[in-house]
Amino acid sequence: MADTFSRKKRSWIMSRIKGRDTKPEKIVRTILKSMGCRIRRYDTTLPGNPDIVLKDKWKIIFVHGCFWHGHKSCSRSRRPSTNRAFWNRKIDGNIERDLKVRRKLKNMGWRILVVWECQLKDNTHLKTSLAKFIGQRTRRSI
Ligand SMILES: [Zn+2]
Repeated sequence: MADTFSRKKRSWIMSRIKGRDTKPEKIVRTILKSMGCRIRRYDTTLPGNPDIVLKDKWKIIFVHGCFWHGHKSCSRSRRPSTNRAFWNRKIDGNIERDLKVRRKLKNMGWRILVVWECQLKDNTHLKTSLAKFIGQRTRRSI
């Protein structure tokens, strides 16, 4: 995939994608709330400022954009063919940072689930894996 966007457009896309309160996060939060979870957002006291924190359950959910966080073997994470060195450095850096953050949190006793942007397409599957993670069975009616 060539980087067909102009610099201006690309930086706009970057700011949109990197911004907080993204749509994917909202989708995940809405599902969790429907399961009766109490959610804390962007806990700045924790490594990596996790997107969603279920404090009473000692569980954390990261909602990752496939491109920025380098989702392995996912079509959405294909890197632009121009400025290769830049993108590799950038995205490999993100992957490494994510790994470090997860390791730190695990050592603190947190359990972690990473939800990828592309997984949001299949709502039923997402609900099932979220329910499994928070240790709750999905109700038939959902
Ligand atoms: Zn993906």
